Amino acid sequence: MLGGGPYTTESDNRGPFLTARRADVAVVGGGPIGLAVAWRAASRGMRVLLHDPRPGSGASAVAAGMLAPVAEASFGEEELTRLLLDSAARWPDFAVEVAAAAGLAGSAELGFRTEGTLVVGRTADDLAEARRLWSYQQGLGLPITALNATELHDREPLLAPRVRGGAHAPDDHQVDPRRLVAALRTAAESAGVVFVPSTVRGLDEIDAGTVVVAAGCGAAELTGLPIRPVKGQILRLRAPGGEAPGFRHVIRGYADGRSVYLVPRHDGEVVVGATVEERGDTTVTAGGVRDLLHAATELVPELAEYELVEAVAGHRPGTPDNAPLIGPLAGRPQVVVATGHYRHGILLTPVTADLVVDLLASGVPDPVLAPFSPDRFDGYRSAPGLTGPGWDGPELAEPGLAHPELANRELAHPGLAASGPAREEIR
Ligand SMILES: Cc1cc2nc3c(=O)[nH]c(=O)nc-3n(C[C@H](O)[C@H](O)[C@H](O)COP(=O)(O)OP(=O)(O)OC[C@H]3O[C@@H](n4cnc5c(N)ncnc54)[C@H](O)[C@@H]3O)c2cc1C
Repeated sequence: MLGGGPYTTESDNRGPFLTARRADVAVVGGGPIGLAVAWRAASRGMRVLLHDPRPGSGASAVAAGMLAPVAEASFGEEELTRLLLDSAARWPDFAVEVAAAAGLAGSAELGFRTEGTLVVGRTADDLAEARRLWSYQQGLGLPITALNATELHDREPLLAPRVRGGAHAPDDHQVDPRRLVAALRTAAESAGVVFVPSTVRGLDEIDAGTVVVAAGCGAAELTGLPIRPVKGQILRLRAPGGEAPGFRHVIRGYADGRSVYLVPRHDGEVVVGATVEERGDTTVTAGGVRDLLHAATELVPELAEYELVEAVAGHRPGTPDNAPLIGPLAGRPQVVVATGHYRHGILLTPVTADLVVDLLASGVPDPVLAPFSPDRFDGYRSAPGLTGPGWDGPELAEPGLAHPELANRELAHPGLAASGPAREEIR
């Protein structure tokens, strides 16, 4: 595995990776995953190259930045939910470290906010749909509490009077992905990562001890793995007068059967998202914008007064089971894959970087990675239409645990502990 042993430094002169000419690690892709892997690896003393013609130009350039392991916990995705929870637990320290390494004053400069998330419903049908999901989440022992209309309006007075009820997920936070990626790039450069502004056409053209493929949707062509683009249209609004938006929580809601989310930033921006479409184009459609704005203003009418500053579309790197592909590529142990993060790549950045760099250092995948092995789809051929066109919300939502946190989380979330591997097996 990975040369059959742990990563070694040139001065050790024992390892398989280093020669005078070669990098220890070449990362393909400079989105949040590739940048975080490169930064963490360089911080551990590895010599790292990162190939990307336009770092930060992939899905992260449009992503909302919700860090929502609870609101995203979905039926049948318990292993993914454990991984989401693990990564969410790492986020506060990760944000502080990234900010410091990038020379920022603190994690607030990444747009990292911890007010939590409100999940709300407008009609009886909307509420029934939302209640079905949060009952499941409560059954897993996840922190989400039902609120009546009065309690919701006390928390967020700008919610439409017709919002009938909802729930509060206090541990579902947010970050601004554009600020995150800029900071990760600075941190990586400061740690000595060398950026190569080129598109990699084939893995054989790279000369490095280990190649980490973190190219988002671009990883399909490089590895043959079943990763497909899942289009998302998304809007950015701005509060009048340069003020902060009039609400503080991330609001995820149902309005007339449509799900929508509203992510408020301190700088006045509100992100409204997002469609989920099995398409590879990036066209922003009139219908997409209309439907997003309609659902958003049904939940927070005041948004109709906000400036519409951006309407864009991007591609989530989807996999057949909505879970990422992390680990060595079957038959090519010098190639490590870290992609397929679908709707959760921003949330999953800290855990992915830590587990991949542990693998690079030790040569052995952490058992927590077993459910996310890139070879779990051997024999599978990617087919369009596995997920129908729909809306980016709780009903389509998506999902593991390692390290000392594992013990705590199993206690905290008994439903997950019951359905997941025992701690002893993982460690
Ligand atoms: C509308 C929308 C909303 C989203 N909202 C959220 C959210 O709220 N929370 C969340 O956690 N996630 C969210 N996501 C998902 C998240 O954006 C992705 O999961 C995440 O960006 C994946 O990170 P990545 O680094 O793997 O890929 P990307 O961010 O796509 O970056 C891939 C990079 O690889 C480079 N590349 C590709 N091919 C090659 C090649 N051959 N050679 C060199 N470089 C290459 C690209 O230039 C790019 O810079 C959202 C996505 C979309 C589209």
